[in-house]
Amino acid sequence: MPQIDRNTDRNTDRNKVSRWDLHGREHVVRVRRTGVQRTLSCDTCGWRRGAPFLPWLKAREHLADAHQATVDPAAA
Ligand SMILES: [Zn+2]
Repeated sequence: MPQIDRNTDRNTDRNKVSRWDLHGREHVVRVRRTGVQRTLSCDTCGWRRGAPFLPWLKAREHLADAHQATVDPAAA
């Protein structure tokens, strides 16, 4: 059973989540702390979203859904 790697993932930069798509392009979602909230913003398409918890998970969902970017550079 794969471990859920939120902020405890040692391969995850806490300020951003980057994934590669099938064409080898890198997509980056930045995670910014704004008070108790965290705000996500995507470098590729400008998508933004507040995420009170599990921002890294939301970032990965966006990267997968919007950009088909699911390859973790840290794991490649
Ligand atoms: Zn995006």
